[in-house]
Amino acid sequence: MKWIKHCAQALNHWILTQKSHVKASDSRLSGMVATVLMMVFGVATAFGITPGTSTRLVPVTPVIEDITQHNILPTATPGVYTQQDQVRSGDTLAALLFRMGVSDQAALDFIRTNPTARVIYQQMSPGKPIRIQRRNNGDLISLRFPHAPGKTLQVTRQGDQFLASEVSVGSLHRVVQASATIHSSLFAAADAAGIPDGVTHQLSRLFSTDIDFHNDLRSGDTFSVVYEATQDDFDQIQSGKILAAEFVNKGVVIRRVYFDGPDGGDYYTQDGKGTRASFLRSPIEFSRVTSGFKAERFHPILKTWRAHKGIDLGAPMGTPVVSVANATVAYSGWRNGYGNVIELRHSNGISTVYGHLSAFAVGLHTGAHVRQGDVIGFVGMTGLATGPHLHYEFKIDGVQHDPQGPDVPRYASASLSGRGKSQFLTATAPLIKQLDAIRGASVTHFE
Ligand SMILES: [Zn+2]
Repeated sequence: MKWIKHCAQALNHWILTQKSHVKASDSRLSGMVATVLMMVFGVATAFGITPGTSTRLVPVTPVIEDITQHNILPTATPGVYTQQDQVRSGDTLAALLFRMGVSDQAALDFIRTNPTARVIYQQMSPGKPIRIQRRNNGDLISLRFPHAPGKTLQVTRQGDQFLASEVSVGSLHRVVQASATIHSSLFAAADAAGIPDGVTHQLSRLFSTDIDFHNDLRSGDTFSVVYEATQDDFDQIQSGKILAAEFVNKGVVIRRVYFDGPDGGDYYTQDGKGTRASFLRSPIEFSRVTSGFKAERFHPILKTWRAHKGIDLGAPMGTPVVSVANATVAYSGWRNGYGNVIELRHSNGISTVYGHLSAFAVGLHTGAHVRQGDVIGFVGMTGLATGPHLHYEFKIDGVQHDPQGPDVPRYASASLSGRGKSQFLTATAPLIKQLDAIRGASVTHFE
């Protein structure tokens, strides 16, 4: 029963794909959608039949299974079958072809002895697709096998002889759209909707400055995504970059669209505001705040009430510390209380401070340039520290602010204006329309 569910999901995914590409007519894809449609309608019929008419179930089921296992594609010529399957672990070519209904010793002999065709034997790795055309009686008419990227090996029957050749094939560019509702986790929802992992990873990165995927997700949250994909000669889909995405988290709608602007491709809000994170949420990937930002606190070593003008992030000794944004190293060395410390100077009068380090990154020196995410040092307990942790400060014009507070600018990339913005609006209008169409529900609030 599992595959039935899978087919239904695949159908949902494919129909959406097809809708978004009504103009890009491709008979292969339409054929595939038609096949899936047939399968699901078959299933629907099977479910719709009342117990009294169960005899009709018998002929329906084997047909569905046949299609699923061998992926029989519709062919115009009567008595000619086009099928696609893939190499399984331990398969021989004879076994694979036999499974697809080919019973043709002459063809096997040809492939084994022909210098061009015999490459198939060397490349029978599990998962490789193979597509054949055969006659009703098992005679092979043609065979296609992926040989190298963009190259397909083709064997065709010419009367009683066979011919082997290598053909160059391009891949089709597709725009795929999908949507899902979260019940347990982001990845479970994406899997159920047939969204590839690569796209889900992009999605979580894209919204990571707005949504904390560990704490903020709620059952019933939804997301939609429009992404690029390429479809090869064997209908295998490779996903590419996200073009537009929407996340509805706790009733708040957040959208991102991709735009290839004057400074290269980047993601924006739908009205052209830049969305690249200005400062990473934390200079340590996995850590917890052991002491927050406070105007005053009792210092455990100095035994006095003192302000804590930063946050302490607990992490094991030696944990890498990264730069929260592009910067110039203003200072790296020893400072009383801080121990080994780095101060980074960012743009707009902002600087960040990293204290109690056990070591500095190799090559780090005053005046060096670092990029967001670069490792600059390692967690330690130098200076006044009771245990390994990072003391992290965020300064605006020399004054410390809470690194997790509202004073930290969220987005670094500039908002578009003037001509750039009008180009952006024109270029992204179809994507916005697509997102509107996927959801079709009323919009409550955009961020
Ligand atoms: Zn501290």
